[in-house]
Amino acid sequence: MKFRQLETLYHQPLFELISKSRAVHLEHWRGEEVQRCSLLSIKTGGCSEDCAYCAQSSHYSTGLEREELLSTEQILSAAERARSQGATRFCMGAAWRGVRDGTEKFERVLETVREVSRLGMEVCVTLGQIGAVEARKLKAAGVTAYNHNLDTSPEFYPEIVSTHTFDDRLNTIAAVQQSGMSVCCGGIIGMGESIKDRLRLMELLSELDPQPDSVPINCLMAMPGTPLEDQPPVDIFELVRLIAVARISLPRARVRLAAGRTRVSREGQALCFFAGANSIFFGDKLLTAKNPAADVDLALLHELGLNVEQHGNDRPAGVVTAASA
Ligand code: SAM
Ligand code: SF4
Repeated sequence: MKFRQLETLYHQPLFELISKSRAVHLEHWRGEEVQRCSLLSIKTGGCSEDCAYCAQSSHYSTGLEREELLSTEQILSAAERARSQGATRFCMGAAWRGVRDGTEKFERVLETVREVSRLGMEVCVTLGQIGAVEARKLKAAGVTAYNHNLDTSPEFYPEIVSTHTFDDRLNTIAAVQQSGMSVCCGGIIGMGESIKDRLRLMELLSELDPQPDSVPINCLMAMPGTPLEDQPPVDIFELVRLIAVARISLPRARVRLAAGRTRVSREGQALCFFAGANSIFFGDKLLTAKNPAADVDLALLHELGLNVEQHGNDRPAGVVTAASA
């Protein structure tokens, strides 16, 4: 969708905007269904990149301890635990600039993916930059989706990262698309960018061909020690507006209310679900940042009368309620 259209949508009265986004949502999704994804950091800290928001960058003193790549056994047991708690998608994140075919770490990731994909959940990985060969091998090993966020507008990106470019991000996304893996791609708000930057991001995401299947909207978790440590929380109505615009411009994508939910009230989250968010990360930790406790999330979904998605890719039309999950 073109920038001008997005801008008009975004700036209309809030209730008109969310009425529209709700209608689009109900056309493509069950309004009451929310997917729960679990995210595990399989390789933490010590990253060569200087992303200004990230506690895992080795450029900043964030107090985060660098860890080696977890073993397949460790990852598999975390995946089993997530599954037993109701996750239908398991995401594995690594603090790498990227990964190349022929390296030991890539072989280990492929082995782990083969094991995890047997559990019947959607398998998502986020490993930084990859090319066509890596994408093909990950797909063959059982990866459903590759996450690679554009994070912000191409104009604002150089203010946030200097060690790689926006075009590098686009190249990885193109390689993922060509492999047939599904693309998970979204952004972060609250880094000091303008509304225009956020809408430019939406323009780029909605003009990807095919559009991403999954669009995480992260609110900055201001991590101590990073250049963005003092950024104030995102205004709730700005978040709701952006979710509504994402729903309208990316009607078939799962819009994921991702990082930063600890700073969003229950009422705020309810509004986000109404406006079109239909997926959350759950579990106490989001890579290295805090996330609401799983039981608190379940209680909220239950109170709102929302359902959580059932296990398996071949799930029947029915869904299970949060109370019975
Ligand atoms: N290194 C890989 C990469 O950059 O694509 C994968 C891991 S990286 C931590 C995954 C995503 O987490 C980033 O693209 C960003 O959107 C999100 N993220 C990281 N730190 C964040 C923070 N402090 N607040 C909000 N989102 C964050
Ligand atoms: Fe490294 Fe990814 Fe963090 Fe950037 S966002 S510093 S690439 S882990």
